[in-house]
Amino acid sequence: MNEQLKADEAKYVMQTYKRAGVEFVRGEGALLFDDEGSEYLDFLGGISVASVGHCHPEVVEAIRVQTGELQHVSNLFYTGPMVQLAKRLSESSLGGKVFFCNSGTEANEAAIKIARKAARARGVENPEIISFEGDFHGRSYGSLSATPGLATNPDFAPMLPGFRSVPFDDAEALRAAVNERTAAVLIEPMQGEAGIFPVSDETLVAARQACDEVGALLIFDEVQTGIGRTGSLWAYEQGPVRPDVMTTAKALGGGMAIGACIGNPETGEVLTAGDHGSTFAAGPVASSAALTVLDLVDDPVMLRRVRSLGDALAEGLKRIEGVTEVRGRGLMLGVGLADGIVAADVNSTLLERGLVANAPRPDSLRLLPPFVLTDDQAERAISVIEETLAGYHPVESK
Ligand SMILES: *Cc1c(COP(=O)(O)O)cnc(C)c1O
Repeated sequence: MNEQLKADEAKYVMQTYKRAGVEFVRGEGALLFDDEGSEYLDFLGGISVASVGHCHPEVVEAIRVQTGELQHVSNLFYTGPMVQLAKRLSESSLGGKVFFCNSGTEANEAAIKIARKAARARGVENPEIISFEGDFHGRSYGSLSATPGLATNPDFAPMLPGFRSVPFDDAEALRAAVNERTAAVLIEPMQGEAGIFPVSDETLVAARQACDEVGALLIFDEVQTGIGRTGSLWAYEQGPVRPDVMTTAKALGGGMAIGACIGNPETGEVLTAGDHGSTFAAGPVASSAALTVLDLVDDPVMLRRVRSLGDALAEGLKRIEGVTEVRGRGLMLGVGLADGIVAADVNSTLLERGLVANAPRPDSLRLLPPFVLTDDQAERAISVIEETLAGYHPVESK
């Protein structure tokens, strides 16, 4: 790759990321191209963002048209795309009002504010928000405090008070932790950053019941699972319970930065004038892109395709030697690797062989491909993973 670019990045960009040694310059559908013209199959989708594929022509056109008409006026005025998008999100999910922002982190901040304000309204003095160990909710102080794996970093102490965690998917521990102080249970219905771990139906039901008993809110962070990723527009639709508040971002804007916190008819009324805001939120360009993404994804044919592609991928992956399990649903898959295989090494080799994926933990790969993947591309990915793992010799179990 371009050595000057690498050197300038090291010199001028705060070193918060360990970047892979590739410069991408173009994307089309499920393909990416680097500065030397090499082609890659993108099984990461910009971390679950490029769900309708890179540079989808309808998304590009919506952005092009809107950006030539009006780009930004702030939320002090009415704009059509923002209101249409709120209607669309509300009617497709919890039926309440929507708060817009620019990222998943901020969507969770809004949810945390709603939870605390609702708890105070019922007389709770020290509201507490409960999450699962391994959950990822973002990196601002509120969402970070709700992210147990990162909230312990002493460099950034103190975290916000009023957050606690229980072991992942532990229904009993969750039930025991919920009490009169509980403002909300804030969880990912399927953990993404942790390496793709679905919460069991039993635990979801326990969470719903525990919240109902004390008047706490059940909040689902669907920032990664939402917008069709698991084969339904929202992951909760395939589970046994509905949340009271839900957050979305990542794929919502088709690559434009936009996030939303969606309430039900009650929780959507909690925040009022002056409680929260954002300069850029749901600007006309990002909202027009999001409306187009919803046109494409909120379609039974597309969602069925996500499920069938996901099933085919999971089946193909399970047959590979060195793969111990495939977790997840739809096109949100965690691939467990046998003892002694280091996922990060595998991931580097995959990249060299033209497959973009991700290793969120030492023993797993994460796959989040665009929904426009063809059958051939899915088979190609399985072959590349198979050929790569053939170079490893799993430790024999004793
Ligand atoms: C990515 C992610 C976030 C944070 O979203 P940003 O847009 O990076 O702020 C929050 N929750 C979940 C589940 C995520 O996957």
